[in-house]
Amino acid sequence: MEGHWTAETLRTQSKRNLGGEKSNTGFWLLPVSDRAREQLTFWLLPVSDRAREQWTRTGDGQLAADYIYLSPHLDDAVLSCGGQIAQQTRQGRRVLVVTICAGDPPAHQADSAFVRELHARWAVESPVAARRAEDLAALRLLSADALHLDVPDCIYRPDATGRPLYPDREAIFGAFSEEEGAWVTAVTRHLRRLEPLWGATVYAPLGVGHHVDHQLVHMAAQEWGAPGGRLVYYEEYPYAQDPVAVEAALHEKKLVAELVRLTRPDMERKIAAVACYRSQLSTFFSSDLDMAHRLWLFARLRASEAGMAERIWR
Ligand SMILES: [Zn+2]
Repeated sequence: MEGHWTAETLRTQSKRNLGGEKSNTGFWLLPVSDRAREQLTFWLLPVSDRAREQWTRTGDGQLAADYIYLSPHLDDAVLSCGGQIAQQTRQGRRVLVVTICAGDPPAHQADSAFVRELHARWAVESPVAARRAEDLAALRLLSADALHLDVPDCIYRPDATGRPLYPDREAIFGAFSEEEGAWVTAVTRHLRRLEPLWGATVYAPLGVGHHVDHQLVHMAAQEWGAPGGRLVYYEEYPYAQDPVAVEAALHEKKLVAELVRLTRPDMERKIAAVACYRSQLSTFFSSDLDMAHRLWLFARLRASEAGMAERIWR
């Protein structure tokens, strides 16, 4: 990965990054050179004609997205907000889901028993590329655009000596490492590139469950502040099933809850989209049926009275 790339190389590379998966809805973010990769400066590459056209129109004050969802991992936005995304696109609004930890593991990735255990559970070749392809399939079902940032998942990130920074389950739900301040700055810088999307409402993770990658995205979103837009928070499923975890994430934040009421078709599309994350389902659910059942139950619980809902905070 050296020197500069032409648009055509980038397009070919984007397909390769996606394991041959071709999307007609999304953007991808690709490193332009080794140096760029190091500095985490990337090119935004609108892939579809529609996306490209929208992107070039942003200079005229046209929006490329009405709603932007910041997803720490390749599944969080859909698991947590898939119903409202379905509703927004059904109403003709443009939704962009930006997944932050969608990057390949670093060349000298932190190898740990934990990573091997997770890869065995996910049961896919090239886990990160497979997960990106799952995300595109899910977002295509929801008619949303995708943007994948090249930040590695915390399980792959090493400390200064090359050892895993987060070597086990306890660590990934523990404190965000002081060694990682530069990642917050880097992600904030990425998010600033979305500023041409003036006026879009931005949904950031509240940090329920305390996963370090969710903390990273939450901090970067706060640092960025979504100027010109509105910053709201969503509570992350499945962690939000635990009211104590929600309380902990809300701690000392003066946020007010708001319910987004969903129709049955919105919930059906959410469930179909969640089912696209094949490699991740076994972590949270015993089967597809169990997944559908639990998502329906949770949406009913959130609605508190009749119907179904997802909850956001602003
Ligand atoms: Zn996550």
